[in-house]
Amino acid sequence: MHPAAEGGGTSAGSSVPALELDGISKRYQQGGDDVVVLNDATLHMAPGEFVSLVGPSGSGKSTLLHIAGGLDKPDTGRVQVAGIDLSTLGAGPLAQVRRRHIGFVFQFFQLLPTLSVRENVELPLIFDGKTSHRVDELLERIGLAGKGDRLPGELSGGEMQRVAIARSLVAGAPLILADEPTGNLDAVNAAEVLDLLTEQVRLAGAALLLVTHDAAAASRADRVFTLTDGHLSAP
Ligand code: ADP
Ligand code: MG
Repeated sequence: MHPAAEGGGTSAGSSVPALELDGISKRYQQGGDDVVVLNDATLHMAPGEFVSLVGPSGSGKSTLLHIAGGLDKPDTGRVQVAGIDLSTLGAGPLAQVRRRHIGFVFQFFQLLPTLSVRENVELPLIFDGKTSHRVDELLERIGLAGKGDRLPGELSGGEMQRVAIARSLVAGAPLILADEPTGNLDAVNAAEVLDLLTEQVRLAGAALLLVTHDAAAASRADRVFTLTDGHLSAP
C-alpha cells in the first residue's frame, strides 16, 4: 500500500516525499548542436513508492536518474531527496546526502574490484566512519552469507548485482535509483535479481525508481512513466 501515490507528494500528511523532481530541464552540446534531453520533467515519489521509467535508448532515462541522485545537475528545475534540496548543497554535503539518502544500482554493477564483497557492501558506511551489524544480515538476505571475503571477480554477474543491491540498502537510504539493473544479466538471473531488488527495497521501506527496458518488470511498479521528448508521461 502506498499512501500519497498521487504524485502531489504532500497528501501523506507529515511524511516527506522520497523524491521531488520539479521542472527539470537538461541540454547537452553534441557536435555543435544543442540537444534538449529533459524538458520540464516533473515527478514526485511518495515514501516507499515503486515507480518505473521506460523509454527508448537515448531518451534521457539515465540523465534523469543521475540528476535525481545528485550525480549530475539540471540546467533548470529543483531536485529534492527526502526533503533536501540538492541545489543548495556544496560538494561535501552533497556526497554525504548521496551516501546516506540515496542507493544506486547500475547496469554494470560498479563494484570496486580490489575490495571484498563485505567491504563493497560497507562502502557507503566506511566513508562516514561507521560500521553496521546490518552488513551480515544483508549478506544473508541476498544469499551471499558465506561469500563476504570473496572478491567481485570471483562472483557471477547475478551475484555481483546482488552485492550492489546490498550496498544500495546498507545505509538505510529512503530512495533507491536503479538504472537497467538487469540489463547485463541472462533471463534467469535477471528475474532473480529483480525479485530480490523489489523485495529488499520493500522490506527496507525505501522508494524505488527503476529504469528498465523490460515491460513486464516495469508493470510491477505502482506507477509507470515513459520519457518522450524530455517529458515524463504515462505510457
Ligand atoms: P538513456 O539512458 O535513455 O539511453 P541518456 O540519458 O543516457 O539516455 O542520454 C540521453 C541523450 O543525452 C543522448 O542523446 C546522449 O547522447 C546524451 N548525453 C548523455 N550524457 C551526455 C553527456 N555527458 N554529454 C553529451 N551528451 C550526453
Ligand atoms: Mg541509460
